[in-house]
Amino acid sequence: MNLAVIGAGYVGLTTAICLASQNHRITIFDIDDEKIKQIQNKKLPFFENGLQEILENVISSNNLIPVTNLNELVQNTDGCFICVGTPTKDNSIDLTQIVSSVESLADAINENNKKNYQIIVRSTVIPNTSRNTILPILNERLSKNGFGLSVVPEFLREGSALNDFMNPDKIVIGNFDENVVLFVKEIFKNFEDKCQFVETNLESAELIKYTNNAFFSMLISFSNEIANISEKIPGVDPYKILNALVLDKRITSIVNDEKVTPNLASYLIPGCGFGGSCFPKDVQAILDYATKQETQTPLLKAILNINAERPNKMVSLSAKILGDLKDKKISILGLTFKPDTNDLRSSPALDAIEILLKKGAKIFAFDPILKSESNSIKSLQNCTICTTIEDALKDSDIAMIFTKWPEFKSIDSRFLKQFMKNPILIDGRGFLDKEKFDAGSYYKMGHSDKNLEN
Ligand code: NAD
Repeated sequence: MNLAVIGAGYVGLTTAICLASQNHRITIFDIDDEKIKQIQNKKLPFFENGLQEILENVISSNNLIPVTNLNELVQNTDGCFICVGTPTKDNSIDLTQIVSSVESLADAINENNKKNYQIIVRSTVIPNTSRNTILPILNERLSKNGFGLSVVPEFLREGSALNDFMNPDKIVIGNFDENVVLFVKEIFKNFEDKCQFVETNLESAELIKYTNNAFFSMLISFSNEIANISEKIPGVDPYKILNALVLDKRITSIVNDEKVTPNLASYLIPGCGFGGSCFPKDVQAILDYATKQETQTPLLKAILNINAERPNKMVSLSAKILGDLKDKKISILGLTFKPDTNDLRSSPALDAIEILLKKGAKIFAFDPILKSESNSIKSLQNCTICTTIEDALKDSDIAMIFTKWPEFKSIDSRFLKQFMKNPILIDGRGFLDKEKFDAGSYYKMGHSDKNLEN
């Protein structure tokens, strides 16, 4: 099919590359000309495992066509995915990118006299956005042309975007008429055997996406609340407590005499909190939406409040170990909000760094994927960004892990002792083997703060 994508960010470009690899002909547009130029030059503008190679193939085969004007976008296509950003502004969803992209798309459809063009909202938008914000724009500008509108939310996770897109668990199709459903089903025809199609109305499709993100954020905040309780009980390790929970038959099922640990167990781990471009902003957006509808959402509030405290908790733990943090040299290991992405949006490491800097600490940070370019990030301007882990650890008073990069997995006391003044590590993701550390040199979140035992 001849399809278009507006917005060449993580979601738009992944959608475009993956659909182009399935022999659809995809034209992609972004207001950022630089991004489009990079894509034309076969260069992925962000890091995501496996996508670069497919990008090269689909550009070479002319199945992906990056363009810098909307007329070109609509001329040869029958429908368009809207994949622009929906950030937070003043605690509410900011629909500026949605409104301006839909307005300019509608104008281009009109100018090119396209009939029955299909608009597919892929961005995450709060309930009623499609009906109350997007539909009026289309009605006003396209009433003579006819058009279709659907909400088909994206569920990919950065770091495994390619696999998530190619192997979806569901394709949700929110629509207001049957033609739209047929159009969307035709696009995703190859997925029919692999996953369930959930047909519903526009508002339900919008809410399904928020329900997903709120649920997984809730598991993380739940785990962190258990860690907070554990802190007050000497000898209690919250990781063990939550591991025991996961063994419950209602979570870990037994299939053919084998235990099947569900993926959601990876959210039942305490740590330095969730970040990224989705969980924090989406929970905030749906909370704000609910509040405006005069619906009380104390659970959503708690998810965010618990999470907001986590970077602070990491800093407090370091202060309990070191005392005054002024002029202490602190090594930050991992800046991205999760491994296998270069995305720094709402990363807990950045929040912790801000607090540490205010306390007068000196920060030496290392992230396997971010080198000099991270100097452009405001909160990192007063840090030294190191190009090796050894440089970040040199003469340091304490090291703190914020990202579960595999590069950190082999760290042990012997390694730390080679470089650090005090070979002490706080493992904000709780994934290292504590047996490999000397007593009193390895800390996870949620340890009793009475004696800071390992
Ligand atoms: P992003 O910021 O990486 O990309 C958005 C792109 O849209 C940018 O390249 C920007 O230049 C472009 N853009 C903005 N206004 C435009 C306009 N008027 N015309 C054309 N292009 C315009 O954002 P993202 O991470 O790809 O997220 C996009 C949407 O998908 C958001 O609603 C997000 O919540 C949702 N989502 C994101 C993820 C994720 O993991 N990143 C997963 C699922 C859903």
